[in-house]
Amino acid sequence: MKRVLRADVQGLHGYAVQPSAGMVKVDTMENPFQLPPALRQQLGARLAEVALNRYPAERGDVLRAELAQHAQMPAGCDIMLGNGSDELISLLTLAADVPGNVILAPLPGFVMYELSARLQGLRFVGVPTTPDFQLDAPAMLAAIREHQPAVVWLAYPNNPTANLWDDGAIDAIIEAAPGLVVMDEAYQPFASRDSLARLQRHEHVLLMRTMSKFGLAGVRIGYLIGRAPLIAELDKLRPPFNISVLNCEAALFALEHVDEYARQAAIIRSERARIFAALQALPGVQPFPSEANMVLVRVPDAAALFAGMKARQVLIKNVSGLHPLLAGCLRITVGTPEENTQMLAAFEAALKDTT
Ligand code: PMP
Repeated sequence: MKRVLRADVQGLHGYAVQPSAGMVKVDTMENPFQLPPALRQQLGARLAEVALNRYPAERGDVLRAELAQHAQMPAGCDIMLGNGSDELISLLTLAADVPGNVILAPLPGFVMYELSARLQGLRFVGVPTTPDFQLDAPAMLAAIREHQPAVVWLAYPNNPTANLWDDGAIDAIIEAAPGLVVMDEAYQPFASRDSLARLQRHEHVLLMRTMSKFGLAGVRIGYLIGRAPLIAELDKLRPPFNISVLNCEAALFALEHVDEYARQAAIIRSERARIFAALQALPGVQPFPSEANMVLVRVPDAAALFAGMKARQVLIKNVSGLHPLLAGCLRITVGTPEENTQMLAAFEAALKDTT
């Protein structure tokens, strides 16, 4: 039979999702809260009115306008919607898919930048951070000079390390970059700083956000903000009806209730501080400061602790094998206060077993 599948794809590992039925699920940075029941009922009534027989049309434009307002989009910019920011990563990589082009990002970082690059036959250059997960500015600048990347990805805050980068280092990277610099602000609802001002200052900077961490991970809405002419070009790569009418209406409903989501984000930020303090008090355990809804923590034996927590029905993410700098590290998503209490109890018990 003629070869149908690409050999390079057959050699890749896809994005893995861990089974989680019956577990305290604190592995993928979801917002643990649902909307209150009365709002969910209202949402159900709204969705019942949506014309499922029609292709998505004007409501997508309304959502773009509402998101632009929500994000305080600067004048001269435009906004493009993706089926989650994962789709936008894929589309931006497609836009840069010129033979010989390089995609560059600090590592450890979000795995989809590299996976998308490789799926589209582009070379990916990962520049190691410092051991405490800060940008290695001289190394980043040297790599930019050497590889002249078409796209530099900066997750701000970063995943899985949860920190923001040094602002001076970011600005130096933006000055040096010959192509696009994408500030991926998936975790912006939990962070103390953002990149809106950079968007205003530089026409090669894009800002990517998502409604996933806000509380709509299941709805799949990501958005990209940049100068209008650039967005107009990128938008040509977007599948015409990439946002379902149901997703669009659910997102519009959520934006009408931002106060509820802001209340949830405030609880998550305060729980993050509680988790950090509790982990820091444990012997041999080193949590890293977080600006996101996750905490990265270094432990004496990551595999054993992960397994011990799983046996106690708590699912976290063992990131220790993703990059040498992450040796011994686990990533824990902030859950509800009750889930966090259960998680901490499981962590402590599993730690006792392993030491
Ligand atoms: N960017 C970063 C840094 C992420 O961590 C994630 C999800 N974990 C995404 C983008 C993708 O988010 P989504 O596709 O749900 O919008």
